[in-house]
Amino acid sequence: MMTCKEVLDFLMAYIDNELPTDQRDDFDRHLKVCPSCVNYMKSYRETVRLSRESALPAAGEVECEGSVPAEMIEAVRHAIRHAAAREKK
Ligand SMILES: [Zn+2]
Repeated sequence: MMTCKEVLDFLMAYIDNELPTDQRDDFDRHLKVCPSCVNYMKSYRETVRLSRESALPAAGEVECEGSVPAEMIEAVRHAIRHAAAREKK
């Protein structure tokens, strides 16, 4: 069984469908029993969606809504840079 930390580490790859099947299964299994990771993934997806629709605000400008931790914003920024680099190829 994956730990929450592993889930967070693999979240980006999971959403991008880049996880190997067995890891994906582990991931799904963890999500079934861990509501906090499900919530985390939901807000992560929402953040990705929002940031693709509009420019992501700088870290200092992000309103604290209590649901999106700063490190997640960073992770999303990273994912977007990643995706942008991939699209240029
Ligand atoms: Zn978890």
